[in-house]
Amino acid sequence: MSNTLHIVGGGMAGSEAAWQAAQMGVPVVIHEMRPKVETFAHRTGDLAEMVCSNSFRSDDDEQNAVGLLHWEMRAANGLIMAMADRHRLPAGGALAVDRDPFARSVTRQLRDHPLITVEEGEITALPDDGHWIFATGPLTSQRLGQAIAQETGTDALAFFDAIAPIVYFDSIDMSQAWMQSRYDKGETEEERTAYLNCPMTRDQYEAFIDALLAADKTEFHEGETAGYFDGCLPIEVMAERGRETLRHGPMKPVGLTNPHQPDVKPWAVVQLRRDNALGTLYNIVGFQTKMKYGAQTSVFKMIPGLENASFARLGGIHRNTFLNSPTLLDDRMRLKSRPHIRFAGQITGVEGYVESAAMGLLAGRLAASEILGQPLPPPPQDSAMGALIHHITGGAEARTFQPMNVNFGLFRPVEGLKGGRRGRKDRYKAYTDRAKAAWRGWLEQAAPAPAQG
Ligand SMILES: Cc1cc2nc3c(=O)[nH]c(=O)nc-3n(C[C@H](O)[C@H](O)[C@H](O)COP(=O)(O)OP(=O)(O)OC[C@H]3O[C@@H](n4cnc5c(N)ncnc54)[C@H](O)[C@@H]3O)c2cc1C
Repeated sequence: MSNTLHIVGGGMAGSEAAWQAAQMGVPVVIHEMRPKVETFAHRTGDLAEMVCSNSFRSDDDEQNAVGLLHWEMRAANGLIMAMADRHRLPAGGALAVDRDPFARSVTRQLRDHPLITVEEGEITALPDDGHWIFATGPLTSQRLGQAIAQETGTDALAFFDAIAPIVYFDSIDMSQAWMQSRYDKGETEEERTAYLNCPMTRDQYEAFIDALLAADKTEFHEGETAGYFDGCLPIEVMAERGRETLRHGPMKPVGLTNPHQPDVKPWAVVQLRRDNALGTLYNIVGFQTKMKYGAQTSVFKMIPGLENASFARLGGIHRNTFLNSPTLLDDRMRLKSRPHIRFAGQITGVEGYVESAAMGLLAGRLAASEILGQPLPPPPQDSAMGALIHHITGGAEARTFQPMNVNFGLFRPVEGLKGGRRGRKDRYKAYTDRAKAAWRGWLEQAAPAPAQG
C-alpha cells in the first residue's frame, strides 16, 4: 500500500493535518473541491478560509480552555497558529486574525512544502483502501455527505448557525460610538481600544427588542432548529428567550465608559470588532442572525452610531454536517467500520476554527505515525486536545450528541481544589498546568517534527 496520506478538504482541519503529517516526513495529497465546486459561505479558493468571525477567541492559556488549545497547537509547531500569530489583529485578550492574508499564508506554506500536493476537485465516495483523512467540514458536499451516510448507516445531522453582519468603519458615527475594550483589557493602547462600542438608553433598547421580535425571519423547515448550538444563537432567538437576555449577553454594558457622556451609564452596549488589518471593516460581535436582509438593515440602523451604516456583509444562516462520533469513531479518530479512514475537524462534532484545527493536528499526527509504523497512543485525557477527543469519541452521550467547544467542563477534576466560583482561578490554573505537562509528554513520544519552514 502506498505511504501517501490523502486528505479531503483543505479547511482548518485538513490544512493542519497536512502540515503535521508532511513535517513528520509523510507525503500528502490535499483534495480540495474549491474553487471548482463552491460552498455558499466560502469566497475564495484559498485553503483555511475563515468563513465568518475573524476570531480565534481567548488567547489566555492559563485561565481559558481555548487559549490552552492555542498553547498546545503552538507547542506542536502548528501551522494554523503560526499563521494566526503572524496575521494577528488587536482584539484585547482575544486572538483576532486578518483573514485574507492568513488564508493566503497557510495556502502558500502548504503549496510550497516539498511533500505536499494540492489537487483540486470534489471527492464523492469513501475509498476502499489507502490512508485517508476526511476533513470536509460543516459544508461537506452533498454527494460526499450521501456517501458517508450510506457507509455509516446514520444520517448526518444538519442544523443551522448564523453569520454576524459586517459594517464599513467609515459609515459609523463616531460622535456617538467610542473605542474601548471591556475593562480596558490588553497590553497596548491598541489592544485596550480594540472594540467599537455603541451605547443604548433603556428606551432605545426596548424599541430594538420590539423590532427584533417583529422582524421578518428566514423560515426553518420542521425539525431544523432542534440542533441549535447555544454558543451561536441568533440574536432574535436570544431576544425570544427573554427581553433581558441580550443585555446579559452580547449587549451587556459592563466594563465600558462612554467618553461622550461619562456620567451616564448605558443601558446596553453593542460591540463591534475590527475585521481586517486596514481597520475598514467591523463585525457586530455576537449578532448572528436569521433575519431577512431587508429587516436586518432597518433593525441594525436603530443602533446609535449605525443609523447610516453601510454593510459589507449581512448576516445569514448556514448548515452544519457532523457525525455521531461517539458511535462511529475510535479513540484515534478512525471510522470503526473502515479504519483506513479518519475524520477530522468540525465534521467530527467539534465546533469552531480552533477546535477544528486542533482535531486536524491530531488526525495528521496519528495517521502519519501509523504510516511510519510507529503508531502513537491517543492523546492524554488531561490535555485540552485529549479532553476534546475523549468527549467526541467516547465521553459524550451518543443519543443526544451535539457539537462541542473546548471548555473546562470536559476536563477531569483536579483533586483537593476548592469548587465553586471562589476557587475557579486556582482550579483553571491547575487544569492548564496539568494539561501542559501531559501534552508535552505526549509530544515527546511523537516522531520529532522538524522546525517550521
Ligand atoms: C457559515 C458558517 C459560519 C461559521 N462561523 C464560524 C465562526 O464565526 N467561528 C468559528 O470558529 N467557526 C465558525 N464556523 C464553523 C467553521 O466552519 C469551522 O469552525 C471550521 O471552518 C471548520 O473547519 P473544518 O476544517 O472542519 O471545515 P472547513 O474549514 O469548512 O473546511 C472543509 C473544506 O472541505 C472542502 N470540501 C467539502 N466537501 C468536499 C469534498 N467532497 N471534496 C473535497 N473538498 C471538500 C470545503 O471546500 C472546505 O474547504 C462557521 C461555519 C459556517 C458554515
